[in-house]
This record gives sequence, structure tokens and C-alpha cells, in this order.
Amino acid sequence: MAMFGNLSDRLVEALSNLRSKGRLTAADIDGTVREIRRALLEADVALPVVKEFAAHVRERALGDEVNRALNPAQQVVKIVNDELVRILGGEESRSLTFAKRPPTVIMLVGLQGAGKTTLAGKLSKWLAGQKHSPMLVAADLQRPNAVTQLQIVAEQAGVPVFAPEPGNGVGDPVQVARDAMRIATEKLHDVVIIDTAGRLGVDEELMRQARMIKEATNPDEVLFTIDSMIGQDAVATAQAFNEGVGFSGVVLTKLDGDARGGAALSVAQTTGKPILFASTGERLDDFEVFHPDRMASRILN
Ligand code: GDP
Repeated sequence: MAMFGNLSDRLVEALSNLRSKGRLTAADIDGTVREIRRALLEADVALPVVKEFAAHVRERALGDEVNRALNPAQQVVKIVNDELVRILGGEESRSLTFAKRPPTVIMLVGLQGAGKTTLAGKLSKWLAGQKHSPMLVAADLQRPNAVTQLQIVAEQAGVPVFAPEPGNGVGDPVQVARDAMRIATEKLHDVVIIDTAGRLGVDEELMRQARMIKEATNPDEVLFTIDSMIGQDAVATAQAFNEGVGFSGVVLTKLDGDARGGAALSVAQTTGKPILFASTGERLDDFEVFHPDRMASRILN
């Protein structure tokens, strides 16, 4: 998979240049840190994240652990790996929080085109495979096709969808979400996944609507869905959603594309929220639990 293609190549190359050397001088380390810094910036990783990353790598690489290592170059690789794991969220991968009293409510937010509807299908299929009984809720009444599109992925996933009756006008997404909660309880669905409207850009009306759905359904998880390809806009978009709606976790989508990696490597650090899942293609099975350590090793291999 082309994940982080260029960034990955550049980091691997920067580190392999150290291999031919025995002991590493401060100049060797500074040179490598500079290359790492440049590679991250070109991959659209947010500047504060890059600065901190480079500073940590430099500090540790100049310290005793590399000096004393039998293979100093290999030790620097380990340091870079550790640092990637750190910015991706740390050693532990965080899994979904389930409600003590079902149904568990998962609300999906993000810009239009981020991949929310596709994710709703993926997540519901994944949960159904784990003996849950999810129900999807079409609370994106903004885009004419959104409800139909959700119905299509729901059918592929073999999961029911709650949607407003056609012909009832535009409908009120907050009311739809409320009704869905009642139906889910009646029909004994233990997880409710709410697909909400996205806009092409962040806007106040979108945020207000999402906040109202959140208040009405008291979700256990609000998952901010972000397209890994959006590059430098990732941080501002994530911050706007975090301030405007508030979210508990992140899902990275389109990691299969020729993603430069910026969003993936910036968003956990800058929002302080864990990345829970990764979406890696258009098929419902192109979906995985996000493990920072596995992602870091993929980047460095
Ligand atoms: P929404 O507007 O946030 O609901 O986004 P959609 O779920 O409609 O997705 C927008 C487009 O991106 C669709 O064409 C999806 O097939 C595509 N898409 C969603 N997730 C992925 C992914 O992980 N990889 C790829 N390659 N395409 C995706």
C-alpha cells in the first residue's frame, strides 16, 4: 500500500545514510535531523509538531543511549520510531467506549467528502462482526443523496438504517436522531451510529446542528472523520470541530491514497485526541483499528 509513500522513503533514506558510519558525530546527527525535519514539512505535517519531533530526536540522539549503543545508527532509527509512535498517540491504542447501559451512541462528524457515510457502513459491519447489533441513523439531511447513500452502505453491511420517511420535506436531523434513539431501544440495538451532515468548509450552522444532535443523543463517542489527503488544512479543521462540537476520537480516512501523511501525523498531537480507526479504501472491509506502533513501523519500513 502506498501509505505515506514519499515521507516513508525520505525518512528511511535519511536514516540509512547513518548506517555507513560507525560512531556518530554531532554533525551526523544534525544532518539527519535536518533531513527528517524537511521530509515532515514536505509531507504537510504541522510546524509545531515537526519542531517538537525534531527537537526530541536530536536531544535523544545526541545523548548517551546512542553513544553507548553497539549499533548507533540502529539506535537512531529506534528513537525516530518512538517519536512517531508518540505523535500518533502513544503505545496503547484506544478502543471504542461502550455505554454501561446500551445503546452506545457513536456520532460521526467531519467535512463533506471526508468519508463519514462510508465509515458508518464500515464501522457497523465491523461491530456486527463482533456480535453487536448496530443501527445506522441518517441525520445528514443536507445533501439530497446522503440518505440513499447511507441506505446503500447499510444494505452492504447488512445493518438496518433509520431514516426519515421520503417526502416529509427536508426534515429535522435533531428530531431524526431523537426518534432513532427511541427505535434503537425498542428494537434492542446496542449501538447507534449517527451520520451527520458535512459542509465543504467549516461553518457555524453545521456546528450548531451537530451540537444539537450531540445534546439530544448524549453520544459515548463523537468521532471526527478526516481525509488524510487534506494536508495543511487538517489542523485548523480539527480544531474548528473540536471547539465547535467537541469530539472524543479521530478516524483517518483515505490512508490508501498517496497521502502525504500530514493530517495523520499532526492531528492526534494538536488535538490531544486519539486516532481510533483508519479507513483504507472504498470497500467496507478496508477498515482497521488504528495502532500507533504498527503505523510507525509501516512508515519506517
Ligand atoms: P461523507 O461526505 O463524509 O459522507 O463522505 P463519503 O463517505 O460519501 O465519502 C466520499 C468519497 O470518498 C466517496 O467516493 C467514498 O467512496 C470515498 N472514500 C471514503 N473512504 C475512503 C477511503 O478510505 N479510501 C478511499 N480511496 N476512498 C474513500
